[in-house]
Amino acid sequence: MDHYLNYIADQWCDAERALTIDNPASDQPCATVALADTHDADRAMAAARACVDSGALTQVRPAIRTEWLLKAAQAIRDITEQGARLCCTENGKRLQDARDEFSEAARYFEYYAGMADKLEGSAIPLGDEYLDFTQYLPFGVSVQIVPWNFPVSICARSLAPALAAGNAVVVKSPELSPLAMTLLIRAVVSAGFPPGAVQLLCGEGAEVGQHLATHPQVDQIVFTGSVATGQSILRNAAARATPSVMELGGKSAAVVLDDADIDVVLESVRNGIFFNSGQVCSALSRLLVQRSRYEEVKAAVVALAESLTTGPGDHQQSDITPLVSRQQQQRVLAMVDRAHAEGARLLTGGDAPELPGYFVAPTVIEAEPQMTIAQQEVFGPVLTLMPFDSEAQAIEIANGTPFGLVAGVFGQQMDRTLGVARQLRGGQVFVNEWFAGGIETPFGGVGLSGFGREKGQQAIYGYVHTRNIAIRLRTQPR
Ligand code: NAD
Repeated sequence: MDHYLNYIADQWCDAERALTIDNPASDQPCATVALADTHDADRAMAAARACVDSGALTQVRPAIRTEWLLKAAQAIRDITEQGARLCCTENGKRLQDARDEFSEAARYFEYYAGMADKLEGSAIPLGDEYLDFTQYLPFGVSVQIVPWNFPVSICARSLAPALAAGNAVVVKSPELSPLAMTLLIRAVVSAGFPPGAVQLLCGEGAEVGQHLATHPQVDQIVFTGSVATGQSILRNAAARATPSVMELGGKSAAVVLDDADIDVVLESVRNGIFFNSGQVCSALSRLLVQRSRYEEVKAAVVALAESLTTGPGDHQQSDITPLVSRQQQQRVLAMVDRAHAEGARLLTGGDAPELPGYFVAPTVIEAEPQMTIAQQEVFGPVLTLMPFDSEAQAIEIANGTPFGLVAGVFGQQMDRTLGVARQLRGGQVFVNEWFAGGIETPFGGVGLSGFGREKGQQAIYGYVHTRNIAIRLRTQPR
Protein backbone atom coordinates (compact mmCIF):
# COMPACT_ATOMS: atom_id res chain seq x y z
CA MET A 1 0.00 0.00 0.00
CA ASP A 2 1.28 3.47 -0.81
CA HIS A 3 2.23 5.68 2.12
CA TYR A 4 1.84 9.49 1.97
CA LEU A 5 3.78 12.11 3.93
CA ASN A 6 3.38 15.52 5.53
CA TYR A 7 5.20 18.60 4.24
CA ILE A 8 6.90 20.56 7.02
CA ALA A 9 9.73 23.10 6.73
CA ASP A 10 10.32 22.22 3.07
CA GLN A 11 10.69 18.49 3.69
CA TRP A 12 8.33 15.57 3.11
CA CYS A 13 8.21 14.01 6.58
CA ASP A 14 6.98 10.75 8.00
CA ALA A 15 5.43 10.51 11.47
CA GLU A 16 5.49 7.99 14.29
CA ARG A 17 1.84 7.10 13.67
CA ALA A 18 0.03 6.33 10.42
CA LEU A 19 -3.62 6.55 9.43
CA THR A 20 -5.18 3.99 7.11
CA ILE A 21 -7.45 5.42 4.41
CA ASP A 22 -10.33 3.30 3.10
CA ASN A 23 -11.72 3.23 -0.41
CA PRO A 24 -15.40 4.15 0.15
CA ALA A 25 -16.48 2.16 -2.92
CA SER A 26 -14.97 -1.13 -1.74
CA ASP A 27 -14.74 -0.73 2.05
CA GLN A 28 -11.08 -1.81 1.72
CA PRO A 29 -7.94 0.05 2.83
CA CYS A 30 -6.25 1.81 -0.09
CA ALA A 31 -3.26 3.69 1.41
CA THR A 32 -1.75 5.06 4.59
CA VAL A 33 -0.74 8.58 5.52
CA ALA A 34 1.67 9.90 8.15
CA LEU A 35 -0.42 11.12 11.10
CA ALA A 36 1.08 14.33 12.45
CA ASP A 37 1.15 15.13 16.16
CA THR A 38 1.39 18.43 18.02
CA HIS A 39 5.21 18.45 17.77
CA ASP A 40 4.90 18.25 13.98
CA ALA A 41 2.38 21.08 14.15
CA ASP A 42 4.83 23.17 16.20
CA ARG A 43 7.55 22.61 13.60
CA ALA A 44 5.16 23.62 10.81
CA MET A 45 4.15 26.79 12.65
CA ALA A 46 7.81 27.67 13.35
CA ALA A 47 8.68 27.25 9.65
CA ALA A 48 5.74 29.41 8.62
CA ARG A 49 6.67 32.08 11.17
CA ALA A 50 10.29 32.09 9.94
CA CYS A 51 9.00 32.58 6.40
CA VAL A 52 6.87 35.54 7.50
CA ASP A 53 9.73 37.07 9.50
CA SER A 54 12.15 36.68 6.58
CA GLY A 55 9.96 38.93 4.44
CA ALA A 56 10.53 36.55 1.53
CA LEU A 57 6.83 36.65 0.58
CA THR A 58 6.27 40.34 1.14
CA GLN A 59 9.50 42.14 0.29
CA VAL A 60 9.45 40.92 -3.29
CA ARG A 61 7.51 42.77 -5.95
CA PRO A 62 3.97 41.40 -5.89
CA ALA A 63 4.38 40.40 -9.54
CA ILE A 64 6.85 37.76 -8.35
CA ARG A 65 4.05 36.17 -6.32
CA THR A 66 1.96 36.26 -9.49
CA GLU A 67 4.67 34.24 -11.24
CA TRP A 68 4.81 31.66 -8.43
CA LEU A 69 1.03 31.28 -8.45
CA LEU A 70 0.90 30.84 -12.23
CA LYS A 71 3.65 28.21 -12.09
CA ALA A 72 1.70 26.43 -9.35
CA ALA A 73 -1.44 26.50 -11.51
CA GLN A 74 0.40 24.87 -14.40
CA ALA A 75 1.92 22.25 -12.09
CA ILE A 76 -1.57 21.44 -10.78
CA ARG A 77 -2.87 21.04 -14.34
CA ASP A 78 0.04 18.71 -15.09
CA ILE A 79 -0.89 16.27 -12.29
CA THR A 80 -4.65 16.37 -12.78
CA GLU A 81 -5.10 12.83 -14.05
CA GLN A 82 -2.91 11.20 -11.40
CA GLY A 83 -4.39 13.35 -8.64
CA ALA A 84 -7.96 12.75 -9.77
CA ARG A 85 -7.52 8.96 -9.68
CA LEU A 86 -6.21 9.18 -6.12
CA CYS A 87 -9.02 11.54 -5.10
CA CYS A 88 -11.61 9.19 -6.62
CA THR A 89 -10.12 6.20 -4.76
CA GLU A 90 -9.88 7.79 -1.32
CA ASN A 91 -13.04 9.89 -1.48
CA GLY A 92 -15.45 7.82 -3.56
CA LYS A 93 -16.43 10.66 -5.89
CA ARG A 94 -16.79 10.36 -9.68
CA LEU A 95 -13.49 10.43 -11.53
CA GLN A 96 -14.65 13.32 -13.71
CA ASP A 97 -15.67 15.31 -10.61
CA ALA A 98 -12.22 14.64 -9.14
CA ARG A 99 -10.64 15.93 -12.37
CA ASP A 100 -12.85 19.01 -12.06
CA GLU A 101 -11.51 19.56 -8.53
CA PHE A 102 -7.95 19.78 -9.86
CA SER A 103 -9.01 22.07 -12.73
CA GLU A 104 -10.81 24.28 -10.25
CA ALA A 105 -7.75 24.29 -7.98
CA ALA A 106 -5.62 25.46 -10.92
CA ARG A 107 -8.20 28.17 -11.70
CA TYR A 108 -7.97 29.51 -8.12
CA PHE A 109 -4.21 29.88 -8.53
CA GLU A 110 -4.61 31.60 -11.91
CA TYR A 111 -7.38 33.86 -10.66
CA TYR A 112 -5.55 35.04 -7.52
CA ALA A 113 -2.26 35.28 -9.45
CA GLY A 114 -3.99 38.08 -11.30
CA MET A 115 -4.78 39.86 -8.03
CA ALA A 116 -1.43 39.54 -6.24
CA ASP A 117 -0.19 42.79 -7.83
CA LYS A 118 -3.48 44.67 -7.52
CA LEU A 119 -3.93 45.00 -3.77
CA GLU A 120 -3.83 48.76 -3.97
CA GLY A 121 -4.38 51.00 -1.00
CA SER A 122 -5.82 54.49 -1.22
CA ALA A 123 -4.68 58.03 -0.53
CA ILE A 124 -7.03 59.88 1.82
CA PRO A 125 -7.25 63.69 1.54
CA LEU A 126 -6.65 65.45 4.88
CA GLY A 127 -5.58 68.85 3.53
CA ASP A 128 -2.13 70.08 2.46
CA GLU A 129 -0.56 69.55 5.86
CA TYR A 130 -0.93 65.78 5.73
CA LEU A 131 -0.24 62.81 3.55
CA ASP A 132 -2.43 59.83 4.42
CA PHE A 133 -2.53 56.44 2.75
CA THR A 134 -3.67 52.89 3.40
CA GLN A 135 -1.90 49.59 2.75
CA TYR A 136 -3.18 46.03 2.64
CA LEU A 137 -0.92 43.79 4.71
CA PRO A 138 -1.05 40.01 4.97
CA PHE A 139 -1.97 38.62 8.39
CA GLY A 140 1.20 36.50 8.59
CA VAL A 141 0.66 32.82 9.39
CA SER A 142 -2.67 31.53 8.06
CA VAL A 143 -3.88 28.19 9.46
CA GLN A 144 -6.31 26.54 7.06
CA ILE A 145 -8.44 23.58 8.14
CA VAL A 146 -10.00 21.68 5.25
CA PRO A 147 -13.00 19.26 5.12
CA TRP A 148 -13.17 16.00 3.17
CA ASN A 149 -15.93 16.67 0.65
CA PHE A 150 -13.88 18.70 -1.89
CA PRO A 151 -10.43 18.48 -0.32
CA VAL A 152 -8.46 19.62 -3.36
CA SER A 153 -10.56 22.52 -4.55
CA ILE A 154 -11.39 23.80 -1.05
CA CYS A 155 -7.70 23.66 -0.11
CA ALA A 156 -6.81 25.70 -3.21
CA ARG A 157 -9.72 28.10 -2.60
CA SER A 158 -8.06 29.39 0.60
CA LEU A 159 -4.41 28.65 -0.14
CA ALA A 160 -4.23 30.63 -3.41
CA PRO A 161 -5.58 33.98 -2.12
CA ALA A 162 -3.59 33.63 1.11
CA LEU A 163 -0.32 33.21 -0.81
CA ALA A 164 -1.26 35.88 -3.34
CA ALA A 165 -1.67 38.31 -0.44
CA GLY A 166 1.70 37.29 1.02
CA ASN A 167 0.76 34.99 3.92
CA ALA A 168 2.59 31.79 4.87
CA VAL A 169 0.17 28.90 5.21
CA VAL A 170 -0.18 25.79 7.36
CA VAL A 171 -2.85 23.50 5.88
CA LYS A 172 -4.48 20.73 7.89
CA SER A 173 -5.97 18.04 5.69
CA PRO A 174 -9.07 16.04 6.69
CA GLU A 175 -8.52 12.59 8.22
CA LEU A 176 -10.91 10.91 5.77
CA SER A 177 -9.50 12.25 2.50
CA PRO A 178 -5.93 13.58 2.83
CA LEU A 179 -4.14 11.83 -0.06
CA ALA A 180 -4.91 13.87 -3.18
CA MET A 181 -4.08 17.00 -1.20
CA THR A 182 -0.50 15.77 -0.88
CA LEU A 183 -0.28 15.79 -4.69
CA LEU A 184 -1.80 19.25 -4.81
CA ILE A 185 0.77 20.58 -2.32
CA ARG A 186 3.61 18.82 -4.18
CA ALA A 187 2.54 20.71 -7.31
CA VAL A 188 2.20 24.03 -5.47
CA VAL A 189 5.61 23.90 -3.79
CA SER A 190 7.29 22.95 -7.07
CA ALA A 191 6.54 26.52 -8.19
CA GLY A 192 9.43 27.93 -6.15
CA PHE A 193 7.71 29.71 -3.25
CA PRO A 194 10.20 30.80 -0.55
CA PRO A 195 11.13 28.39 2.28
CA GLY A 196 8.32 27.77 4.77
CA ALA A 197 5.61 29.38 2.65
CA VAL A 198 3.44 26.22 2.61
CA GLN A 199 3.11 23.29 5.04
CA LEU A 200 0.72 20.36 4.95
CA LEU A 201 -0.22 18.23 7.93
CA CYS A 202 -2.63 15.36 8.19
CA GLY A 203 -3.62 15.23 11.83
CA GLU A 204 -6.67 14.52 13.92
CA GLY A 205 -8.98 17.50 14.24
CA ALA A 206 -9.39 17.42 18.01
CA GLU A 207 -5.62 17.10 18.47
CA VAL A 208 -3.64 18.79 15.67
CA GLY A 209 -6.49 20.97 14.32
CA GLN A 210 -7.18 22.38 17.76
CA HIS A 211 -3.47 22.80 18.49
CA LEU A 212 -2.96 24.81 15.30
CA ALA A 213 -6.02 26.97 15.84
CA THR A 214 -4.93 27.86 19.40
CA HIS A 215 -1.23 28.15 18.60
CA PRO A 216 0.54 31.33 19.81
CA GLN A 217 1.96 31.79 16.28
CA VAL A 218 -1.38 31.75 14.42
CA ASP A 219 -2.38 35.08 12.84
CA GLN A 220 -5.48 33.91 10.97
CA ILE A 221 -7.74 30.84 10.94
CA VAL A 222 -9.60 29.76 7.81
CA PHE A 223 -12.00 26.97 8.70
CA THR A 224 -14.26 25.07 6.34
CA GLY A 225 -16.33 22.35 7.97
CA SER A 226 -19.19 21.62 10.34
CA VAL A 227 -20.95 24.13 12.55
CA ALA A 228 -19.99 22.32 15.77
CA THR A 229 -16.27 22.36 14.93
CA GLY A 230 -16.46 25.97 13.75
CA GLN A 231 -18.07 27.00 17.03
CA SER A 232 -15.39 25.21 19.01
CA ILE A 233 -12.63 26.91 16.97
CA LEU A 234 -14.29 30.30 17.44
CA ARG A 235 -14.49 29.83 21.20
CA ASN A 236 -10.76 29.05 21.22
CA ALA A 237 -9.95 31.89 18.80
CA ALA A 238 -11.59 34.32 21.21
CA ALA A 239 -8.69 33.91 23.65
CA ARG A 240 -6.30 35.67 21.24
CA ALA A 241 -8.96 37.44 19.14
CA THR A 242 -7.62 35.62 16.08
CA PRO A 243 -9.28 36.80 12.87
CA SER A 244 -11.20 33.95 11.24
CA VAL A 245 -13.04 32.96 8.10
CA MET A 246 -15.83 30.46 8.82
CA GLU A 247 -17.30 28.44 5.94
CA LEU A 248 -19.81 26.17 7.66
CA GLY A 249 -22.81 24.05 6.76
CA GLY A 250 -26.15 24.76 5.12
CA LYS A 251 -29.76 23.66 4.66
CA SER A 252 -30.42 25.52 1.47
CA ALA A 253 -33.86 25.84 -0.12
CA ALA A 254 -35.00 26.26 -3.71
CA VAL A 255 -38.37 27.95 -4.23
CA VAL A 256 -40.26 26.75 -7.33
CA LEU A 257 -42.87 29.31 -8.42
CA ASP A 258 -45.90 28.20 -10.41
CA ASP A 259 -44.53 29.55 -13.70
CA ALA A 260 -41.16 27.79 -13.40
CA ASP A 261 -39.81 25.68 -16.26
CA ILE A 262 -39.92 22.22 -14.67
CA ASP A 263 -37.17 20.79 -16.89
CA VAL A 264 -34.87 23.53 -15.62
CA VAL A 265 -35.89 22.71 -12.04
CA LEU A 266 -35.16 19.00 -12.57
CA GLU A 267 -31.73 19.70 -14.02
CA SER A 268 -30.94 21.76 -10.93
CA VAL A 269 -32.30 19.10 -8.58
CA ARG A 270 -30.12 16.50 -10.27
CA ASN A 271 -27.02 18.65 -9.80
CA GLY A 272 -28.08 20.39 -6.63
CA ILE A 273 -28.70 17.42 -4.36
CA PHE A 274 -27.35 14.34 -6.14
CA PHE A 275 -23.95 15.75 -7.27
CA ASN A 276 -21.21 14.29 -5.03
CA SER A 277 -24.02 12.24 -3.44
CA GLY A 278 -25.28 15.33 -1.65
CA GLN A 279 -22.03 15.85 0.26
CA VAL A 280 -21.98 19.52 -0.67
CA CYS A 281 -22.32 22.37 1.85
CA SER A 282 -24.42 24.36 -0.64
CA ALA A 283 -26.59 21.39 -1.69
CA LEU A 284 -30.18 21.98 -2.74
CA SER A 285 -31.49 20.04 0.23
CA ARG A 286 -35.02 21.52 0.45
CA LEU A 287 -37.33 21.92 -2.53
CA LEU A 288 -40.35 24.17 -1.91
CA VAL A 289 -42.96 23.98 -4.67
CA GLN A 290 -46.03 26.17 -5.24
CA ARG A 291 -49.06 23.99 -4.53
CA SER A 292 -50.58 24.17 -8.03
CA ARG A 293 -47.44 22.46 -9.45
CA TYR A 294 -46.62 20.35 -6.39
CA GLU A 295 -47.91 16.93 -7.50
CA GLU A 296 -46.35 17.32 -10.95
CA VAL A 297 -42.94 18.25 -9.52
CA LYS A 298 -43.17 15.55 -6.87
CA ALA A 299 -43.75 12.83 -9.47
CA ALA A 300 -40.97 14.16 -11.69
CA VAL A 301 -38.45 14.41 -8.84
CA VAL A 302 -39.20 10.88 -7.65
CA ALA A 303 -38.84 9.59 -11.23
CA LEU A 304 -35.54 11.45 -11.53
CA ALA A 305 -34.20 9.93 -8.29
CA GLU A 306 -35.28 6.46 -9.39
CA SER A 307 -33.57 6.86 -12.78
CA LEU A 308 -30.14 7.52 -11.25
CA THR A 309 -27.49 4.81 -11.39
CA THR A 310 -25.44 3.88 -8.35
CA GLY A 311 -21.87 2.61 -8.38
CA PRO A 312 -18.18 3.37 -7.83
CA GLY A 313 -16.82 6.72 -8.96
CA ASP A 314 -14.46 5.22 -11.51
CA HIS A 315 -17.40 3.69 -13.44
CA GLN A 316 -18.41 6.25 -16.00
CA GLN A 317 -22.12 5.57 -15.67
CA SER A 318 -22.44 6.16 -11.90
CA ASP A 319 -24.66 9.07 -10.89
CA ILE A 320 -24.62 8.21 -7.20
CA THR A 321 -21.26 7.30 -5.70
CA PRO A 322 -20.54 6.13 -2.15
CA LEU A 323 -20.50 8.44 0.84
CA VAL A 324 -17.08 9.10 2.28
CA SER A 325 -17.27 6.70 5.24
CA ARG A 326 -19.35 4.01 6.91
CA GLN A 327 -20.04 6.50 9.72
CA GLN A 328 -21.37 9.09 7.26
CA GLN A 329 -23.55 6.45 5.60
CA GLN A 330 -25.00 5.36 8.97
CA ARG A 331 -25.55 8.98 9.99
CA VAL A 332 -27.56 9.70 6.84
CA LEU A 333 -29.64 6.52 7.19
CA ALA A 334 -30.33 7.35 10.85
CA MET A 335 -31.59 10.81 9.84
CA VAL A 336 -33.97 9.20 7.32
CA ASP A 337 -35.25 6.83 10.03
CA ARG A 338 -35.80 9.73 12.37
CA ALA A 339 -37.70 11.62 9.67
CA HIS A 340 -39.96 8.61 9.27
CA ALA A 341 -40.49 8.42 13.05
CA GLU A 342 -41.44 12.13 13.11
CA GLY A 343 -44.12 11.52 10.48
CA ALA A 344 -42.33 12.51 7.25
CA ARG A 345 -43.24 10.47 4.15
CA LEU A 346 -40.48 8.56 2.36
CA LEU A 347 -41.24 8.84 -1.37
CA THR A 348 -38.23 6.89 -2.63
CA GLY A 349 -34.84 5.60 -1.46
CA GLY A 350 -33.94 5.80 2.22
CA ASP A 351 -31.88 2.61 2.26
CA ALA A 352 -28.41 1.33 1.41
CA PRO A 353 -28.11 -0.59 -1.89
CA GLU A 354 -26.53 -4.04 -1.61
CA LEU A 355 -23.06 -2.99 -2.64
CA PRO A 356 -19.80 -3.35 -0.70
CA GLY A 357 -19.16 0.42 -0.26
CA TYR A 358 -20.86 3.15 1.76
CA PHE A 359 -23.77 3.85 -0.60
CA VAL A 360 -27.12 5.49 0.16
CA ALA A 361 -29.90 5.33 -2.43
CA PRO A 362 -31.10 8.69 -3.80
CA THR A 363 -33.85 9.68 -1.40
CA VAL A 364 -36.85 12.00 -1.56
CA ILE A 365 -38.83 12.78 1.58
CA GLU A 366 -42.03 14.80 1.99
CA ALA A 367 -41.82 16.71 5.27
CA GLU A 368 -43.14 19.59 7.34
CA PRO A 369 -40.87 22.65 7.62
CA GLN A 370 -40.16 22.20 11.35
CA MET A 371 -39.24 18.50 11.19
CA THR A 372 -35.61 17.61 11.91
CA ILE A 373 -35.04 16.43 8.34
CA ALA A 374 -36.10 19.87 7.07
CA GLN A 375 -34.02 21.76 9.62
CA GLN A 376 -30.69 19.93 9.94
CA GLU A 377 -27.98 19.30 7.39
CA VAL A 378 -27.98 15.67 6.15
CA PHE A 379 -24.89 15.75 3.90
CA GLY A 380 -26.14 12.89 1.75
CA PRO A 381 -28.35 12.35 -1.33
CA VAL A 382 -31.55 13.25 0.52
CA LEU A 383 -34.02 15.83 -0.79
CA THR A 384 -36.81 17.19 1.40
CA LEU A 385 -39.90 18.28 -0.50
CA MET A 386 -42.57 20.70 0.75
CA PRO A 387 -45.51 22.60 -0.81
CA PHE A 388 -46.29 26.31 -0.25
CA ASP A 389 -49.31 28.46 -1.01
CA SER A 390 -47.96 31.99 -1.26
CA GLU A 391 -44.63 33.67 -1.95
CA ALA A 392 -44.62 35.02 1.61
CA GLN A 393 -45.00 31.50 2.98
CA ALA A 394 -42.24 30.18 0.70
CA ILE A 395 -39.86 32.89 1.94
CA GLU A 396 -40.78 32.18 5.56
CA ILE A 397 -40.07 28.45 5.13
CA ALA A 398 -36.89 29.00 3.09
CA ASN A 399 -35.50 31.45 5.66
CA GLY A 400 -36.75 29.41 8.61
CA THR A 401 -33.57 27.56 9.59
CA PRO A 402 -30.53 28.81 11.52
CA PHE A 403 -28.43 28.48 8.33
CA GLY A 404 -27.96 30.92 5.45
CA LEU A 405 -25.44 29.63 2.96
CA VAL A 406 -27.22 29.72 -0.42
CA ALA A 407 -30.82 29.71 -1.70
CA GLY A 408 -32.54 29.58 -5.06
CA VAL A 409 -35.70 30.51 -6.90
CA PHE A 410 -37.18 29.22 -10.15
CA GLY A 411 -39.71 31.22 -12.17
CA GLN A 412 -40.10 32.85 -15.57
CA GLN A 413 -41.67 36.19 -14.69
CA MET A 414 -38.43 37.93 -13.81
CA ASP A 415 -39.68 40.82 -11.66
CA ARG A 416 -41.60 38.39 -9.45
CA THR A 417 -38.75 35.84 -9.38
CA LEU A 418 -36.19 38.50 -8.53
CA GLY A 419 -38.54 39.87 -5.88
CA VAL A 420 -38.40 36.47 -4.13
CA ALA A 421 -34.62 36.17 -4.68
CA ARG A 422 -34.09 39.48 -2.91
CA GLN A 423 -35.87 38.22 0.19
CA LEU A 424 -34.07 34.90 0.53
CA ARG A 425 -31.49 34.60 3.30
CA GLY A 426 -28.02 33.51 2.24
CA GLY A 427 -24.67 34.65 0.92
CA GLN A 428 -25.59 33.61 -2.62
CA VAL A 429 -28.98 33.27 -4.33
CA PHE A 430 -29.34 31.27 -7.55
CA VAL A 431 -32.06 32.13 -10.06
CA ASN A 432 -33.09 29.39 -12.52
CA GLU A 433 -29.87 27.42 -12.07
CA TRP A 434 -28.53 25.87 -8.87
CA PHE A 435 -24.75 26.41 -8.55
CA ALA A 436 -24.85 29.26 -11.09
CA GLY A 437 -21.74 31.33 -10.49
CA GLY A 438 -18.18 30.09 -10.21
CA ILE A 439 -14.83 30.76 -8.65
CA GLU A 440 -15.32 34.41 -9.67
CA THR A 441 -18.42 34.91 -7.49
CA PRO A 442 -18.24 35.53 -3.73
CA PHE A 443 -19.33 32.58 -1.63
CA GLY A 444 -20.05 32.28 2.08
CA GLY A 445 -22.79 32.31 4.65
CA VAL A 446 -24.81 34.21 7.18
CA GLY A 447 -26.10 32.84 10.48
CA LEU A 448 -24.82 29.36 11.35
CA SER A 449 -23.41 29.01 7.83
CA GLY A 450 -20.54 31.23 8.94
CA PHE A 451 -18.97 34.50 7.90
CA GLY A 452 -16.29 35.83 5.59
CA ARG A 453 -16.27 35.22 1.86
CA GLU A 454 -14.27 32.88 -0.33
CA LYS A 455 -14.03 33.04 -4.15
CA GLY A 456 -14.17 36.15 -6.26
CA GLN A 457 -12.14 39.34 -5.88
CA GLN A 458 -13.67 40.01 -2.49
CA ALA A 459 -12.12 36.92 -0.91
CA ILE A 460 -8.54 38.16 -1.10
CA TYR A 461 -9.45 41.06 1.19
CA GLY A 462 -10.23 38.43 3.83
CA TYR A 463 -6.51 37.54 3.81
CA VAL A 464 -5.23 41.04 4.58
CA HIS A 465 -5.75 43.76 7.13
CA THR A 466 -5.70 47.46 6.43
CA ARG A 467 -3.03 49.76 7.81
CA ASN A 468 -3.43 53.50 7.62
CA ILE A 469 -0.36 55.71 7.63
CA ALA A 470 -1.06 59.35 8.52
CA ILE A 471 1.84 61.78 8.04
CA ARG A 472 2.04 65.35 9.27
CA LEU A 473 4.18 66.90 6.55
CA ARG A 474 5.59 69.94 8.28
CA THR A 475 6.83 69.94 11.88
CA GLN A 476 8.48 73.40 11.79
CA PRO A 477 6.66 76.67 11.08
CA ARG A 478 7.19 77.92 7.52
P1 NAD B 1 -15.66 18.65 10.40
O1 NAD B 1 -16.01 19.90 11.12
O2 NAD B 1 -15.88 17.36 11.11
O3 NAD B 1 -14.11 18.64 9.99
C1 NAD B 1 -13.55 19.67 9.20
C2 NAD B 1 -12.08 19.79 9.54
O4 NAD B 1 -11.97 20.24 10.88
C3 NAD B 1 -11.30 18.49 9.44
O5 NAD B 1 -10.03 18.75 8.89
C4 NAD B 1 -11.16 18.09 10.91
O6 NAD B 1 -10.04 17.30 11.17
C5 NAD B 1 -11.05 19.43 11.59
N1 NAD B 1 -11.40 19.46 13.01
C6 NAD B 1 -12.25 18.64 13.68
N2 NAD B 1 -12.33 19.00 14.98
C7 NAD B 1 -11.51 20.06 15.13
C8 NAD B 1 -11.17 20.91 16.24
N3 NAD B 1 -11.71 20.70 17.45
N4 NAD B 1 -10.32 21.93 16.04
C9 NAD B 1 -9.80 22.17 14.81
N5 NAD B 1 -10.07 21.39 13.73
C10 NAD B 1 -10.92 20.36 13.89
O7 NAD B 1 -16.42 18.71 9.02
P2 NAD B 1 -16.43 17.60 7.88
O8 NAD B 1 -17.29 16.48 8.34
O9 NAD B 1 -15.04 17.31 7.43
O10 NAD B 1 -17.12 18.39 6.68
C11 NAD B 1 -18.47 18.45 6.51
C12 NAD B 1 -19.02 19.79 6.97
O11 NAD B 1 -18.30 20.83 6.31
C13 NAD B 1 -20.45 20.00 6.58
O12 NAD B 1 -21.15 20.58 7.65
C14 NAD B 1 -20.38 20.96 5.40
O13 NAD B 1 -21.53 21.71 5.20
C15 NAD B 1 -19.21 21.79 5.75
N6 NAD B 1 -18.61 22.39 4.55
C16 NAD B 1 -18.76 23.74 4.34
C17 NAD B 1 -18.25 24.33 3.18
C18 NAD B 1 -18.40 25.81 2.93
O14 NAD B 1 -17.68 26.33 2.08
N7 NAD B 1 -19.30 26.52 3.60
C19 NAD B 1 -17.60 23.54 2.25
C20 NAD B 1 -17.48 22.18 2.49
C21 NAD B 1 -17.98 21.62 3.65
